[in-house]
Amino acid sequence: MLDEPKGPAFLDFPEAPPIDLCEGRTYAEFAGSQLFGETPGVTQGRGDAEGEWMASTYDLIVVGGGIIGCGIAERLRGELSRVCLIDQGPKLGLGASSAAIGGINPHLGDYCLGPLGLMAQHSRDLFPGWINRIASESGTAIPLLPTGLLQVAAGKKEWERLADEVMPILLARDIGAELIDGDHARALEPMLGPDVAGGVVQPRDLAVEPALIMNGLTRILLGDGGPDLLLSATVISVVSRRTEVVVTLAGGRVLTADRVVVAAGHLSHALLDLPDGVFFPVKGQAMEFASPGRGSLSIQCDALVIADGEEHVVFALPRPDGRIAAGVTFEKGTADNVPTAEGRTSILRNLALVLPALTAMPVTRRWAGVRPGTVDAAPVLGYVDDDHRILAATGHYGMGITLAPVTVDLAAKLLLDLPRGHEDRHDLAISSPGRFSGLPAARTESQNPIAH
Ligand SMILES: Cc1cc2nc3c(=O)[nH]c(=O)nc-3n(C[C@H](O)[C@H](O)[C@H](O)COP(=O)(O)OP(=O)(O)OC[C@H]3O[C@@H](n4cnc5c(N)ncnc54)[C@H](O)[C@@H]3O)c2cc1C
Repeated sequence: MLDEPKGPAFLDFPEAPPIDLCEGRTYAEFAGSQLFGETPGVTQGRGDAEGEWMASTYDLIVVGGGIIGCGIAERLRGELSRVCLIDQGPKLGLGASSAAIGGINPHLGDYCLGPLGLMAQHSRDLFPGWINRIASESGTAIPLLPTGLLQVAAGKKEWERLADEVMPILLARDIGAELIDGDHARALEPMLGPDVAGGVVQPRDLAVEPALIMNGLTRILLGDGGPDLLLSATVISVVSRRTEVVVTLAGGRVLTADRVVVAAGHLSHALLDLPDGVFFPVKGQAMEFASPGRGSLSIQCDALVIADGEEHVVFALPRPDGRIAAGVTFEKGTADNVPTAEGRTSILRNLALVLPALTAMPVTRRWAGVRPGTVDAAPVLGYVDDDHRILAATGHYGMGITLAPVTVDLAAKLLLDLPRGHEDRHDLAISSPGRFSGLPAARTESQNPIAH
């Protein structure tokens, strides 16, 4: 029998005091020590902060060791002989990618009802093969759960919006979407609250634990045939010089490469000459609940709710071992990754409107990360200089896990000059850096390098 919500008192965890496994550290620090252990080799292996033994000229340099940069470096490690991956953190995967919840939701949210949803669908179709390959090559178990998604209508008005505006688009996409009423929704997911009016089932959506993908990618990149790794190294400028790209690190070290990929997440704007306002950070906070003996969610749930006169997102996703990850906040313009008391209160208040039973469960972890937001919510994938040497692969906002396989695939096709099909051209068109008017030329040597 599930505990019933007991009103706002639950926000103070009267039965289960909050257990913050992060022990006052940020999630990034927590993930680094807990998920990767000591990660032998990352800091003492083929690369170190000094990088004295390293080459200074490469076929490809990838800036940023999140899911996008690591995915691209992993894909190209066998194709190009000299690849270097640089990250400012002491380990790979300490940015947004380990903080993501892990919903693979191609058709969720207003932006995905447009062309971005089709790109995300292509990525979803690539997901099982991509994950299986990373899992088998790294020896890491990365469960990919076929949970499906219930886009929950918290009230009647939202149910009508889903029926009138969302369903026609989803039906045209032929993804098996189904509109259901409140009773059907509660039969599907008994933890849903009594006010839930129904929702839309998207049966093909998947769930994964992003930190496990980062764990697998890290192991592969550390193995034989992996790239040179330069960690605790901050790139301060990337300059195209017609015959090569010059990459300057804080401290003055200079590397050159035929091509450079900028996959620096929410900090990419400092390395790319794109107009002001294209990129912005969007902090997101999330929590994990333990559900010992109470059962887990049977399906991912997402809802828009109104609280304090503002719209908020409720998102909850089951892990294979019964944990439930839930959140999330969208804090535009905020770029720190420290979970706050306000964030926790907001998440629990919003969850109580949709999945009240969840708020009675012990909280086992809280964390925050920074999404690489873009002004039109689509990623930025393509060359930004006339000589096609600097490739932007960033701006994935709240979709970077979902879009990782298609981004890696397209980046490889661009960098290796492989044939592109109809879908590729569609996806490259909507993520083209050229869509931002007045795209200036790449940074020149006469400009001051930008730190961070
Ligand atoms: C709370 C939360 C929940 C989310 N849930 C989902 C979800 O369910 N599904 C989904 O699809 N997406 C989700 N996302 C979004 C997803 O996490 C991001 O879109 C994705 O991780 C971006 O990956 P990235 O590799 O571009 O960036 P990051 O993972 O941030 O990696 C960028 C890397 O670049 C490095 N770097 C930056 N600047 C420099 C520099 N100058 N020099 C050297 N290195 C540098 C950083 O250290 C970092 O390691 C969520 C995000 C958050 C915060």
